[in-house]
Amino acid sequence: MNRIQVLPKQVAELIAAGEVVERPASVVKELVENSIDAGASSVTVEIQNGGVSYIRVTDDGCGILREDVHNAFVSHATSKIKGEDDLYNIGTLGFRGEALASIAAVARVSLLTRTAEELAGTSVQAEGGQILSVEDAGCPVGTTIIVRDLFYNTPARMKFLKKDVSEANAVAACLDRIALSHPEVSLRFIREQKTTLHTSGDNNLLSCAYGVFGRDFAKGLIEASYESDGVSAGGLISKPEESRATRGMQYFFVNGRFVRTRTAMAALEEAFKGSITVGKFPSCILNITMPYHLVDVNVHPAKVEVRFVNERLVFDAVYFAAKNALAALNEPPKLQAKA
Ligand code: ADP
Ligand code: MG
Repeated sequence: MNRIQVLPKQVAELIAAGEVVERPASVVKELVENSIDAGASSVTVEIQNGGVSYIRVTDDGCGILREDVHNAFVSHATSKIKGEDDLYNIGTLGFRGEALASIAAVARVSLLTRTAEELAGTSVQAEGGQILSVEDAGCPVGTTIIVRDLFYNTPARMKFLKKDVSEANAVAACLDRIALSHPEVSLRFIREQKTTLHTSGDNNLLSCAYGVFGRDFAKGLIEASYESDGVSAGGLISKPEESRATRGMQYFFVNGRFVRTRTAMAALEEAFKGSITVGKFPSCILNITMPYHLVDVNVHPAKVEVRFVNERLVFDAVYFAAKNALAALNEPPKLQAKA
């Protein structure tokens, strides 16, 4: 019989990193979510070679204290939750404390950060799971993280990466979702030296949708909202005549987090029954909000799947939001009283 052994720490870290960091898009997702959790109002993402050789994320968020930068790279170290109770009440995008540790395990990372209360900023170099240096550096309040040479030390993972264009497309898709779920944040994406996305951060979902998908798509959208028992659905749905051959333009968010949810999808399509032909699908950008304890986000490392305590409330919120918006479309225009 083979004996059971505890794996060396570095091997364990590589295994854990594999769950969080699959490709450049997963790095970008984690970093931008950190920026949003840090209260940033503006985030810039730049990638080169599909993000494989270079990813930079710059934000104007709260920054990281010098005395905390070591912990930022330790796995299961987080400023977002403290104990078990907090796990059932998660209001931030992150909480596992795994992203920076995982990214630094499989890439070369530079961190430049400063908080408002510090005079000097901090520059950190880390790679292969080790912090190489921590130094003073001048910088504005906020954080810049540069990730170079993803998977340089794990050639087996490198082999699974697709062509640069496909990796860059995945990054772009991930940023679209983040932009749509956070219209209050100005997001800019510089892809191989060209700006391909720039949202204003004016907190208007329609102008955000315009920035992400362009005019033609945005002008086919109408507002939809519904709230009951503390669960609400709000955002934009497509007019019936704008329906599509696929579900590719259905964006659902739960408390600002992009999720795949069959419940919400079924509710949306139920509301459109009779308004669109069979085999066509509505589009939507809908944020479902509910008290944090009514949704379990701790189901999946990438947090794309969530569990609802009450599926029915979610179904109803989406269904009635869409149904009422469609009904309003068909109402005759209100008569104006003469002055
Ligand atoms: P998590 O987001 O789950 O807490 P991470 O590994 O992504 O774990 O980040 C670890 C910690 O580093 C965070 O809890 C946060 O305190 C800090 N941090 C990471 N990125 C930023 C950032 N852009 N601005 C401010 N703090 C950050
Ligand atoms: Mg995080």
